[in-house]
Amino acid sequence: MKKNDLFELTITDMGTEGEGIGKYDGMTFFVKDAYMGDVILAKAMKLKKNYGYARVEKILEASPHRVEPLCPNHRRCGGCQMQALSYEAQLAFKERKVLENLVRIGGFEKEDMEGKMLPIVGMDEPYRYRNKAQFPVGMDKEGNIVSGFYAARTHQIIPVEDCFLGVSQNRLVQKIVTDWMEENKILPYDEASGRGLIRHILVRYGFDSKEIMVCLIINGERLPAKDGLLAKLCEIPGMTSVSININQKNTNVILGEKTECIWGKPYITDSIYLRDTKADFARTKDFVSFRISPKSFYQVNPMQTEKLYSTALEYAGLTGRESVWDLYCGIGTISLFLAKHAKMVYGVEIVPEAITDAKANAELNGITNAKFFVGKAEEVLPEFYERDLADMKHPNVIVVDPPRKGCDEKCLETMQKMAPDRIVYVSCDSATLARDLKYLCEHGYEIKKVRAFDQFAHTGHVETAVLLMRATGKEKKEINYREEEIPDCACIYG
Ligand code: SAH
Repeated sequence: MKKNDLFELTITDMGTEGEGIGKYDGMTFFVKDAYMGDVILAKAMKLKKNYGYARVEKILEASPHRVEPLCPNHRRCGGCQMQALSYEAQLAFKERKVLENLVRIGGFEKEDMEGKMLPIVGMDEPYRYRNKAQFPVGMDKEGNIVSGFYAARTHQIIPVEDCFLGVSQNRLVQKIVTDWMEENKILPYDEASGRGLIRHILVRYGFDSKEIMVCLIINGERLPAKDGLLAKLCEIPGMTSVSININQKNTNVILGEKTECIWGKPYITDSIYLRDTKADFARTKDFVSFRISPKSFYQVNPMQTEKLYSTALEYAGLTGRESVWDLYCGIGTISLFLAKHAKMVYGVEIVPEAITDAKANAELNGITNAKFFVGKAEEVLPEFYERDLADMKHPNVIVVDPPRKGCDEKCLETMQKMAPDRIVYVSCDSATLARDLKYLCEHGYEIKKVRAFDQFAHTGHVETAVLLMRATGKEKKEINYREEEIPDCACIYG
């Protein structure tokens, strides 16, 4: 076999990014945009010793799971990987991926895990779910100003007028900005020369509040002809905040240091509601509100986040008397939910700005029983373990929601020493989740429940919530709470 060879390939499996996998002549091939059940004419692209990458030259026999995707750009655009696969098949794929990782990496028994896994929680509507969009702005070959998305693995802009993952207002914002640029001869930023002004259009939308924020990321200090732009933007119903963000560096990082509000408020507000996990995730009246500025981290799929965090809260089994650590807490989304049902919550997060937001959000919601610390979970937690601070040393529950690389072993080791009755693990990478669960289960914990959630339809990502309990089964007695203020720790800088 050599590059560009054509051959018939049956897709029998799918990889972590949603790519099709098939075997041919003793080699395993990975094929983007091919789905389980497809028979394709494949074109060999990159060849290694016993595996390779191929392209779909022609679909010979379409998988029964194929559907007509909404977006005409779905193959070129880097945003989606599986739009042509039916939503049911996407969910089945994600659920299987979690199970396979638990078995292969975690070393758990397949039947045991199948017994503990609850059905994956899919979206009610797998389109228009994102509350945040960042469109790069550029110029096409004819000199027209375009905005859209980068093609997969490149910085070539594909003009996308209406991305079906985002809200329909995005389209209006994109058009207003690009028309205003044409009218006023304002140039888009050009990566190669470093010239031009407008880099990105950032739009955020509050699903509950219906408030909209627009932020233009610019390669300059100020916006010329801004009144014309503002007049148009503030005609959009719900427009609450318009700002500019200055980024004059030649970098892939979208946002620069400085943000300046040029119309309305510097933030939008949105709320996340607690859902009843026993009643088909019906919304309750219990909610937490958040202030979101252009740079704040905020979950991009608020509807699914409500389901995921409500499940995490159910798994925490709170009665109002518990002490809880929430590690990797971000802006305190989970922490604040927990705080309404626990005695004390301690959040740890590495990004100082996120902790500033978390504290402000606690105040906004009148929550006084949540304390937040800036630092690495693997440093803050051991330091508190060494100090004898009653409920902080031996909490009832530890919740973790780490980034894709999972928890540091020092963090897991301390969690196990703190010996909470329950550990709730929220994960965005089922491979590192499986690795960490293996550690915890070798150190006195048992998996009770596993549930996958689809936060990102049409992509290969899957979130998982897991409940672990201490294998001895003995629940802690009443916990002693500290009387004293929490003393400073060396590793905490906030
Ligand atoms: N639970 C939060 C965010 C989870 S995302 C929410 O719901 O909004 C993971 C978070 O972990 C990010 O905010 C990231 O900044 C933080 N993080 C990454 N490494 C960390 C570490 N070693 N210690 C503590 N926090 C970390």
